[in-house]
Amino acid sequence: MAEYDYDLFVIGAGSGGVRASRIAAAHGAKVAVAEEYRVGGTCVIRGCVPKKMLVYGAHFAEDIIDAKRFGWEIDGCRFNWSTLRDNVLNDVKRLEGLYNNTLTSHGVEVIHARAIVTGPHSVSLGKGQEVTAKYILIATGAWPQRPECEGAELGITSNEAFHLPEVPRRIVIAGGGYIANEFAGIFNQFGAEVTIANRGATILRGYDEQIRDRLLQISMTKGIQFIFNAPFEKVVKNGDGSLTVHAGGKTIETDCLLFATGRVPHTRGLGLETAGVELDDQGAIKVDEDSKSTCDSIYAVGDVTNRVQLTPVAIREGQAFADTVFGNKPWRVDYNCIPSAVFSHPPMAGVGMTEAQAKNKLGTVRTYTSDFRAMKNVLAGREERSLYKMVVDATTDQVVGIHMIGPDAPEILQVAAVAVKAGLTKQAFDDTVALHPSMAEELVLLK
Ligand code: NDP
Repeated sequence: MAEYDYDLFVIGAGSGGVRASRIAAAHGAKVAVAEEYRVGGTCVIRGCVPKKMLVYGAHFAEDIIDAKRFGWEIDGCRFNWSTLRDNVLNDVKRLEGLYNNTLTSHGVEVIHARAIVTGPHSVSLGKGQEVTAKYILIATGAWPQRPECEGAELGITSNEAFHLPEVPRRIVIAGGGYIANEFAGIFNQFGAEVTIANRGATILRGYDEQIRDRLLQISMTKGIQFIFNAPFEKVVKNGDGSLTVHAGGKTIETDCLLFATGRVPHTRGLGLETAGVELDDQGAIKVDEDSKSTCDSIYAVGDVTNRVQLTPVAIREGQAFADTVFGNKPWRVDYNCIPSAVFSHPPMAGVGMTEAQAKNKLGTVRTYTSDFRAMKNVLAGREERSLYKMVVDATTDQVVGIHMIGPDAPEILQVAAVAVKAGLTKQAFDDTVALHPSMAEELVLLK
């Protein structure tokens, strides 16, 4: 008789949990994964994937205008939100099915229930059912947080934004990070009056200053309004269904309020204290470099650990955990040079150190910038300019950061990130022949 019901019991079938389950099963482990909502997690069901589809949908607004300059006569063109929304939600359903298939085809048992830890090796599935496992993996992700203010419940979060019955005429977005800027771009393109209200003085803290300033300037040109230093005071519902938002001493009338004020680790009510799993002051599970918690048999990966809240990082952590614990192939995730992007309009992307970080760490740095108008924008008569920036260690000539804003910036940056990760020098970029005409060629022509 086996000592435990399972070798591995995973709580949460999002990016990290699905990868860990599938790989552990491929290594021969008997695995079950519990999911209380839908298989796929934030990224697939209510995050990266549907968001990117909305970004594509939104961009047609400008493409259709620009098309006229390229000779296309488009009459009677109208946008229908419910068509896009329903198509996106249907595709999410398709992807959810694929994720389910991936798990079951690897022999992973999928349990549609809320699981709660009841001890170092035991999990309750409700209705008195308890199962045991040699190892438990917590991969429950993170959940949107709302600022504490009167009427905060009147706002929605990105979870609900994908299901709106219609595009609001006016929307206030609280926060100045990824989700705020991405949804500001989306709703602005769909014709809503968008106001971003942020508690601080900058958007996208952590990104290179010049690049985020360019996004701010372009966003304002597109008609997005920004209110800074505006912590939320209260939200009031009016008789006609509209909302009055009080923030930073100002009042804003709106039809929809979207909170994009960060995401907190999803640990509440998981019973972690019964197994001695310690949390940090943000509620994140404390883990070591192998994703092991303070309980030897319980591990955690992804947003619930609040290391880097990005899907590809959670996937790597899940893979490293499964290979290390079940595959006899120990390895650790390298958190250095993780590329990231904001799918704003236009998108921005970055890898490595910003100029400010490099100056702090290295002392002397050289920076190179290219500030240009993409050829397509020139013919379209669109003033919007791209900005690429390279940060170089002045002592070694090594490229330590690349930051960009402009059409397709994330697509270009993914490849440039290989060079930065590999520690290539500015000379290596100079030695590479330009691919002409392209926007990416700017990276090898920086002077
Ligand atoms: P971010 O951390 O990017 O931004 C949060 C914003 O909300 C900041 O401007 C922050 O201000 C502000 N804020 C935080 N707490 C409060 C509060 N209590 N009251 C008022 N304002 C507050 O979070 P998001 O919600 O935009 O996204 C969550 C995470 O999801 C991101 O960190 C990212 O890792 C991930 N994500 C990644 C995407 C991508 O890769 N493209 C897309 C979407 C999300 P301040 O700057 O002052 O702290």
